[in-house]
Amino acid sequence: MIISGKELATEVKQRLAAEVAEYDKKYGRVPHLVVVLVGNDPASVSYVTGKAKDSEEVGFKSTTIKKPDTISEEELIALIEELNEDKEVDGILVQLPLPKHISESRIIETISHEKDVDGFHPLNVAALWQKQEGVVACTPKGVIELLDKAGIEIEGKRAVVIGRSNIVGLPVSKLLLDRNATVTIAHSRTKNLAEITRQAEILVVAIGRPKFVKADMVSEGVVIMDVGVNRDPETGKLCGDVDFEGCKDKASVITPVPGGCGPMTRACLLENTIECYLRQMNK
Ligand code: NAP
Repeated sequence: MIISGKELATEVKQRLAAEVAEYDKKYGRVPHLVVVLVGNDPASVSYVTGKAKDSEEVGFKSTTIKKPDTISEEELIALIEELNEDKEVDGILVQLPLPKHISESRIIETISHEKDVDGFHPLNVAALWQKQEGVVACTPKGVIELLDKAGIEIEGKRAVVIGRSNIVGLPVSKLLLDRNATVTIAHSRTKNLAEITRQAEILVVAIGRPKFVKADMVSEGVVIMDVGVNRDPETGKLCGDVDFEGCKDKASVITPVPGGCGPMTRACLLENTIECYLRQMNK
């Protein structure tokens, strides 16, 4: 079964659009997401355009603030502090990566954790690890929603996550653990990786290497969630970290790239914005 993240994201957006219409009546305004774009890196421009389009599709107010890549760290911090104070702003997202002279961690820490729709603020990260209420990072949240959508039982399963980054590998591992999977986290120093991945009943791959996971690294019936977004060096087309053609006949469930985890990440950003808005409205 190939799970279409695109289809699920469309369903989520339809549900959110109906909710937003109700919130507008109840609270007198719609959720407002502000995206800050520094510089004009083509990939970042495209991500930011997509986020604004999604926001408008579900009826949010959406603002994109564009700043030149010569902006200083202090100026960017001052802008974020202003947005933090603005009661009409529910979600703030600063598109990463930032120019080298700006500390990403300082910027992430400056965004109010209550408006941190990316879920990257240390307080939101801590909330996840301490099982407290907070904002969960979009990509890991999307992976779990895709598994649920596909009707995959997570409890009791052997899950292997390749990758241990703060934005994907670690939080997705924690979410799987919270759903009572037994989780192994693999990384670049893992020895005999294929022996470990072959034990997986659920395999989440977030490495950033085109078609890295081959058919001989997975077992029959495995559920594969491919988070990777790469360019295929041969064709130049988008591809995942998993050799989709090689693995799809062995997998019981697999996500394609593009059209799998990516669209769900975007849908989860909208969900997170609504969560931040509702917390603000119900204070
Ligand atoms: P990252 O920060 O570069 O982390 C990559 C992880 O993969 C690291 O933990 C690294 O291990 C591990 N790794 C690298 N080479 C490996 C190897 N040969 N064997 C085993 N593990 C290896 O990347 P990321 O930010 O997590 O992103 C991962 C991928 O997901 C990228 O393709 C990115 O574009 C994609 N992504 C997609 C979305 C989406 O919306 N779909 C969102 C975010 C990211 P070490 O820790 O030992 O270095």
